[in-house]
Amino acid sequence: MTSSQLSSAAAKAQALADFINNSPTPYHAVHCAAQQLTKAGFKEIRERDSWSSTLQPGGKYYVTRNGSSIIAFGIGKRWKAGNPISMVGAHTDSCTLRIKPVSKKSSAGFLQVGVETYGGGKWHTWFDRDLSIAGRVMVKDGKGGFSQKLVKVERPILRIPTLAIHLDREKSFEPNTETELFPIAGLVAAELNRTGESGDGKKGDEEATQVKNASDEPFQPLQAATDRHHPYVVQIIAEHAGVGVEDVVDFEMVLYDTQKACIGGINNELIFAARLDNLGMTHSAVEGLITSVESPNALDNDSTIRLISCFDHEEIGSTSAQGAKSNFLPAILRRLSVLPAAQVDSKQARESQDTSTAYEQTLSTSFLVSADMAHSVHPNYAHKYESDHRPEMNKGTVIKINANQRYMSNAPGIVLIQEVARLAKPSSGSTATVGVPLQLFVVRNDSPCGSTIGPMIASSLGTRTIDVGNAQLSMHSIRETAGVYDVERATRLFASFFEHYGDLESKIIID
Ligand SMILES: [Zn+2]
Repeated sequence: MTSSQLSSAAAKAQALADFINNSPTPYHAVHCAAQQLTKAGFKEIRERDSWSSTLQPGGKYYVTRNGSSIIAFGIGKRWKAGNPISMVGAHTDSCTLRIKPVSKKSSAGFLQVGVETYGGGKWHTWFDRDLSIAGRVMVKDGKGGFSQKLVKVERPILRIPTLAIHLDREKSFEPNTETELFPIAGLVAAELNRTGESGDGKKGDEEATQVKNASDEPFQPLQAATDRHHPYVVQIIAEHAGVGVEDVVDFEMVLYDTQKACIGGINNELIFAARLDNLGMTHSAVEGLITSVESPNALDNDSTIRLISCFDHEEIGSTSAQGAKSNFLPAILRRLSVLPAAQVDSKQARESQDTSTAYEQTLSTSFLVSADMAHSVHPNYAHKYESDHRPEMNKGTVIKINANQRYMSNAPGIVLIQEVARLAKPSSGSTATVGVPLQLFVVRNDSPCGSTIGPMIASSLGTRTIDVGNAQLSMHSIRETAGVYDVERATRLFASFFEHYGDLESKIIID
């Protein structure tokens, strides 16, 4: 590789590491994506508003739901109602531990925090890590309303300790997720020292609550946050939200590893990070869309809409108001599908446009690239992989195939993505050759198989879909590994898809 290829790839990988470091939760990931999109000229719109006077061919927009899912799109200047929409879909959530609604615990002189498992994490990897908390806080805004603040505590305040090997001769390590996965937050004695309270004089939790309820304080339907959680934890959250403790009404806080994502390997060819699944593909989706519209006339001759959709809740099955099984994407597609052509295209053309079947026409002409990380071959467990389908890191984006439709890739889709990969431009400032290499993956017949948002969106919309993703190791561990060079390749692949789908769509029609 040339030095410019190296530096361009390294810069893209570092941008992914920064994105991951700034995105410990889906709320942060959506916030970071929105910031990048805004910088690239995308305007924020809201689902609760009418878009009829806002959306214009040639315009770029984004919309969020629950602050944890985001859809962004650029409208081609030659767009007409019922035209195709090229889509890249990914997910913003990752397996984690969430602070329980009542989390205040203490045992054997330790302060502890009750946590709930989210998704199918490799929970043993959460032990002995320097953990902290991040999430969203609902606070009183001082005007009778409530608003959301994002919080990320930087210093490590929690830890889940393993049991010393001398006290544990078990061969396998399968911690009980209810009784053995409780983080410690410090020592009771240190907390009493901080607050100046004496251990003896302090009332037990239940007793203290009863005393409080019996007092003259105004009625509260729920116990205050400071009664349900360790008060100092709430105080730290309030400080980071920039509000007083009394203004914290509720929060959704999760744990994250404070060790930052970094570039590793003896030749700096690997990325070591949390949440590569699926911030890796979320990042490439956002960057790919931005790259595809960055030149001022990028949308001039485009008759499609270029769209990315990054959903929360994939790791728990996508059934929520903002997950891939919700109406978020269908509702946006419906509103876009009937969008009239630009006024320059004569009044007559505008009036003659039949929008009664525009939604169905758009669905049948559109295409979804479902982007979720794939499994790299593992050198110590190579026998677990099908012998002819072992994706390698830094060898290009992986097409995921499964006869039982756990993945949506099929022959016409593979034809399309190959054309897209062939046409992919080098990144600006790089002397890389045109094109992005691709790899194929199927699981062994005697192996379980993952799935993605691909089948659920394809089955509800009937839209053509392919499943792709970059190769990584240790999926669902607290610390995963991926390849540096694959980052910019996926970004270029998605940019090429957006740039060329309008031309390619009519060339691969299977009715
Ligand atoms: Zn995933």
